[in-house]
Amino acid sequence: MTGKRLRLIYSGLCRENMPYLQQGIYMAVKIKPADTAFSKCVRERSNWTCEKCGKQYEENSTGLHCSHVFSRRYRNIRWCGDNAQALCFSCHQWYGSNPADSGKWVEGILGQGVIDLLREKRNLRIKVSKQDEKDIAKHYREELKKLKQRRNEGERGRLEFESWQ
Ligand SMILES: [Zn+2]
Repeated sequence: MTGKRLRLIYSGLCRENMPYLQQGIYMAVKIKPADTAFSKCVRERSNWTCEKCGKQYEENSTGLHCSHVFSRRYRNIRWCGDNAQALCFSCHQWYGSNPADSGKWVEGILGQGVIDLLREKRNLRIKVSKQDEKDIAKHYREELKKLKQRRNEGERGRLEFESWQ
């Protein structure tokens, strides 16, 4: 465990852990270098803006989260651009606590086709190796540099990045 960061995430933020929400149980999710780089890309993509309420955050703010449509535990879509949105703390809480509403909301944003593709990919359960994880981290660090470069050149609003998965 040395050197590996642990972050406590309120279990209610992940729809798969809903049964625990009522019990108020906190769970530890191990945050990997690939998660950190991916999360920054997702938040930079939206220009550090919550994709639900539109509130804007300072760069690198921890008030804006990288929210997953399907849980991080599905490693073959954990680092897929379509499987994540930038959400502020309260919208992320809403997302996890209201699965019927948030499911409809995310469908409206992504479209049923993208949700279906994500579900198919999830069900394939393709293995993601340790080496893949290193490649994913490297890929998103490079994508982040490209996004920042485009910001420096004056591009505003949403910017797309190349998804590794
Ligand atoms: Zn919000």
